[in-house]
Amino acid sequence: MAGEPQTDCLFCKIVSGDIPATIVRESDTTVAFRDINPQAPTHVLVIPKVHYPDAATLAAAEPQIAADVLREAGAVAADEKVDGSGYRIILNTGSGAGQTVFHAHAHVLGGRGLQWPPG
Ligand code: 5GP
Ligand code: ZN
Repeated sequence: MAGEPQTDCLFCKIVSGDIPATIVRESDTTVAFRDINPQAPTHVLVIPKVHYPDAATLAAAEPQIAADVLREAGAVAADEKVDGSGYRIILNTGSGAGQTVFHAHAHVLGGRGLQWPPG
């Protein structure tokens, strides 16, 4: 069923606690944890607890939870004190864009200068 946990999904296993992560925030519908391979001083992933393969699919099926992900991304930036200097929310979608984990997630990057356009 749409949104159900997937046995072969890394981020579903982080939601269930089967794989450890450094969790920095949690809400009823989301978990935020530090990226294992950080690309900036602040690099946190915000994921929905439900499984959808990417952000747009999540938003189409569960718009309120997609909004929760964005709200929590902003809250992470405030917690990490990068909201003043600026931060970036990234939603890689598809392998050609660098998506490697096919459970929707928002990257929150901050704490250093961020170039535009991104690579
Ligand atoms: P994507 O490339 O799909 O947009 O982002 C996936 C992110 O998940 C990558 O930045 C990668 O470093 C991170 N990641 C992969 N495996 C793990 C893990 O086991 N734990 C954590 N905390 N992050 C992971
Ligand atoms: Zn999943």
